[in-house]
Amino acid sequence: MLSLAPMNTRSETATIIRQPESMSPDRRCLLLMSGGIESSTLLFQLAQKENPQPVFLDYAQRAARQEWQAVQTLSLQLHIDPQRYDLSAFGNAVGALRTARYHVPLPHRNFVAIAAVAAIASNLNIKRIVIGLSADDAAVDTCSRPAFQNAIHDTLGSLGLQLETPLIHLGKDAIIQYGNALGVPWAKTYSCLLGRTPACGFCPQCLKREAAFALAGVNDPDMGYDN
Ligand SMILES: [Zn+2]
Repeated sequence: MLSLAPMNTRSETATIIRQPESMSPDRRCLLLMSGGIESSTLLFQLAQKENPQPVFLDYAQRAARQEWQAVQTLSLQLHIDPQRYDLSAFGNAVGALRTARYHVPLPHRNFVAIAAVAAIASNLNIKRIVIGLSADDAAVDTCSRPAFQNAIHDTLGSLGLQLETPLIHLGKDAIIQYGNALGVPWAKTYSCLLGRTPACGFCPQCLKREAAFALAGVNDPDMGYDN
C-alpha cells in the first residue's frame, strides 16, 4: 500500500463522481496536466460536465516531449485543445545551478507550477484551477501536503482564484480504479520520469505506476518496458 491516507473505498470514489454537481456554476476550469494517471483521470472526469482547459508546462523535465504528446492525445480524444507553455529556459537555468542533474530540474516544482497556472488562468479569465494531487503526492512532496495546500488555497483565493484538488484523499490505486470507470485510455497516458518510450520500468514513477495498477487490479497496457 503506497498511500499513507486512510484506505480508499469505492464510496469515496462515488463522492468524487458527484462532486461537480456542487461546484461553481462557472464550468470553465484550468486543468494542469502532465499526461500521467492523476491529471488524465481528472480530464476525463471534468469533460463529463465541465469545460476544462488542459494546460501543460514544459519546465525542461526529461519527459517533457512524451508528456506533452500524452496530453495532446488524451485531449484530442475528447475534442479539447490543450495549451502548452514553454518554461524550459527557466527550468534549464535553475537546473544548471544544481550540482547533479535531476529528472525534474525545478525545486518546489508544484509551487512554481501553481504560480504559473495562476497567471495563465487570470490571463484566460478562468477562476478555477484544478490539479491532480493525490494522497501519495501529499505523503512525499512538501508542496502537496495539506498545510501547504491550505496556505496556497488562501493565497490564490486572495487573487480571486479557486484551487481544487479533488483527488487529494485518494491513493494512486483508487485513482486508477476511478479512471478505469471513466474510460481513461491508460496506454495513452505517460508516467516515466526518464522520458523513455516505452517506459523504463525502473524509475520511481514507473515503479509507483506498476505497484498502483497491481493494487488496483487493473491491467496497465503501457507496461511494455524496454529493459
Ligand atoms: Zn520510468
